[in-house]
Amino acid sequence: MEEKRFQKNQEIELAITDLTADGLGVGHADGYALFVKDTVPGDAGTVRVIKTKKNYGFGRMVDLKVRSDWRVTPPCPVAGPCGGCQLMHVDYQKQLEWKRKKVEDCIYRIGGLTDVEVLPVLGMEEPWHYRNKAQYPVGTDEKGNLIAGFYAGHSHRIVANEHCLIQDEKSNQVLALVLAWMKKHHISAYDEATGKGLVRHVIVRVGKATGQIMAGLVINGAQIPAADALIDTLKTVEGMTSICLNCNRENTNVILGETTKVLWGEDAIIDRIGDVSYRISLPSFYQVNPTQTVKLYQTALDFAGLTGNETVWDLYCGIGTISLFLAQKAKQVYGVEIVEQAVVNAKENAKLNGFTNAEFFAGAAEEVMPQKFLESGATMRADVIVVDPPRKGCEEALLDTIVQMEPERIVYVSCDPATLARDLKYLNERGYRTQKVQPCEMFAQGVHIESVASVRRVV
Ligand code: SAH
Repeated sequence: MEEKRFQKNQEIELAITDLTADGLGVGHADGYALFVKDTVPGDAGTVRVIKTKKNYGFGRMVDLKVRSDWRVTPPCPVAGPCGGCQLMHVDYQKQLEWKRKKVEDCIYRIGGLTDVEVLPVLGMEEPWHYRNKAQYPVGTDEKGNLIAGFYAGHSHRIVANEHCLIQDEKSNQVLALVLAWMKKHHISAYDEATGKGLVRHVIVRVGKATGQIMAGLVINGAQIPAADALIDTLKTVEGMTSICLNCNRENTNVILGETTKVLWGEDAIIDRIGDVSYRISLPSFYQVNPTQTVKLYQTALDFAGLTGNETVWDLYCGIGTISLFLAQKAKQVYGVEIVEQAVVNAKENAKLNGFTNAEFFAGAAEEVMPQKFLESGATMRADVIVVDPPRKGCEEALLDTIVQMEPERIVYVSCDPATLARDLKYLNERGYRTQKVQPCEMFAQGVHIESVASVRRVV
């Protein structure tokens, strides 16, 4: 039988020295790592072992004897059980320092780029109520009461929360109205276990610059009863512009189903980042923290170093957000995006703003770019290439084509510092040097961090 260093329920004295990427406190006892939820570096006390593996285990702090100066009392009453905010018990300045260090560790350890400067995180002045998009799962508690809120960490158990402190107040208001409508008209919540029940999620988007609001219901069916009553109640919310219904009858973790229809109003809302306006529909990808998005895009624009003569490619362009930001300063911008509907939106957004120097292509960047390069007889060039991939980073086939296109500058926008570091290393081995990395807060109170890397050609 496998020998375990500690027994379940054993209590040990432990000092917390680090946080994992998921925000769990970590302490070491005899070289054995114990992960302890809701603790921070600098804490020490009695930890009860709750789960053991060969090389590590999990524990719970049962008697906190030394309180770290990282600690603050989370203002949200469900900060512990809710999986939404992993760092609400950490002082905000410490959150920012920890995130900078996390990016630097990846750049140094995974990327091996120890001479690269990782700048202080561009933080928020007011790290609350910042989100422009809420997705509340709806269900019932063990007594059968209707609840909505967020999933507990690593689970699909709903922690009821109608007053989330990182959502816009308008989102919480829409949720309360939908729940009241459901109660009044005896409309059931979806039950993942049985696949029965109607309402799965309430989604709210808020255009922070324009005040426009979209309310969306994801339902396990084709239509809803008492639709007029829902419309009447939601119309009382100032700025309500669009009420949509999305049908998802699959037994799946994916929130949205394939069809969305408009119940009332428009099929999209408009928001603005800096001087550029964007149309956003229910399924569109749109950065969730608009106060910070402008800083992120401005950093990408600064790193692009545009003078007005450049040809720029924006890969993984979504609805053309960064592309159009760049189009303000470039001669020509090309965007590539895998979701066809997003490409349609990107083209509409170019028109909406009167840009004639932006063109968009649908397809996987790692297929479209090598193909276009080949078709050009290997002559296609760019002055600047911007990439903003999902967490898994860029495929090598794409990075190879980028290198062959010999751009003077590459601007890498990343939501995962580990894959960013991996890809910067790859570019570093092929004639490109990372000059600096600017982390930018997008998810205050949570563990994630966005970064922008400035990369230059040296050969
Ligand atoms: N730059 C945009 C979107 C970034 S999110 C913004 O800031 O709003 C990443 C985008 O990459 C998503 O729109 C996603 O649909 C797209 N995507 C994912 N895989 C892709 C691929 N292989 N090729 C092109 N686009 C991809």
